[in-house]
Amino acid sequence: MLLSKKTLEIREYTAGEQLNEGYIKLNSNENPYQPSPLVFNALKDINKLNFYPSPKSDALRHELGKLNDFVEDDIFVGNGSDEILGLAFLTYYNQKDKDIIFPDVTYSFYPVWADLYDINYRTIAQNSDFSINPQDYFNLDNCQGIIIANPNAPTTLEMAYEDIESIVVNNQDKVIIIDEAYADFGTYYCTALAKKYQNVLIVRTFSKGWSLAGIRCGYAMGSRVLIEGLNKIRDCFNSYSVDRLTQAAAIAAVKDRDYMHVCIQKVIATRERISSELRKRGYTVPQSKTNFLFITKDGFDARSVYQSLKEQKILIRHFNLPKIKNYLRITIGTDEQMDMLLDALNTIV
Ligand SMILES: *Cc1c(COP(=O)(O)O)cnc(C)c1O
Repeated sequence: MLLSKKTLEIREYTAGEQLNEGYIKLNSNENPYQPSPLVFNALKDINKLNFYPSPKSDALRHELGKLNDFVEDDIFVGNGSDEILGLAFLTYYNQKDKDIIFPDVTYSFYPVWADLYDINYRTIAQNSDFSINPQDYFNLDNCQGIIIANPNAPTTLEMAYEDIESIVVNNQDKVIIIDEAYADFGTYYCTALAKKYQNVLIVRTFSKGWSLAGIRCGYAMGSRVLIEGLNKIRDCFNSYSVDRLTQAAAIAAVKDRDYMHVCIQKVIATRERISSELRKRGYTVPQSKTNFLFITKDGFDARSVYQSLKEQKILIRHFNLPKIKNYLRITIGTDEQMDMLLDALNTIV
């Protein structure tokens, strides 16, 4: 047998289909707008590619420190937030008799990392409207950590800041990871929690809000002990995971944050318009604080709608999982793309 038992047995994460040519691509929560022009300028000026990059992305951490009013030594940069989350699981969790805990309907990568590292996990069911009761995360037995995506994917919902803080306050002896992949489209960040509590790690990405899924860059903020741990584990794996091009592109993007905010506002305006159009047509549309919608309808056959849209060259995402198999996840594209989606849905459903 050429493959390890782990490789044979593990169920890997299934990413959205990456078909770019000829499709309206609303299946990976990418931003429909280009990143700042400063990013392209920075890439033109790239040099020193014969040398390794800064292992800890020093100049980028400096900019991120200014952006978030956070100590730059307490920031960790990674090759996409997925890499950081994967390293974080390995850095903080491995007690054999305890679970890590996350909501039932959330980012489907969390159980994959847990399985990869043999970390036990269990999930907590959300309410039928996918809202989360913070009290369900108090006084947990046999728990070694909690992962909360906020706003959550694929449900699109944002918890109240006070509710997140209450979970943190009730679990100060274990690391709480707050995955803020979509917080740029929400109403607040949890930065203050990472400053106030030693056990909070916030993870962000350039892939969604910053329109830079193509460069693979993310960052985490937390206490010195959490960040030092991540640095150590990164150096056990790949000391130079973030290349020079990526660091330069991300620095340029951060320097032009006003540009990013304009794009985010456009996405939010489209999100609100399309949410109300869909509700008028009888769809159930949870109040999204992300750059995508999670929709269903009475008597909906989500799988076949997904298929029909694909035939019409519109890609969205359907998860064949018990609690959400009647839902579709639709990324917010440009107004024009979303109008085409509405037209297509009108003829299919
Ligand atoms: C997209 C996404 C990520 C991964 O982002 P990358 O930085 O592109 O790896 C992490 N968490 C959630 C919830 C996401 O939706």
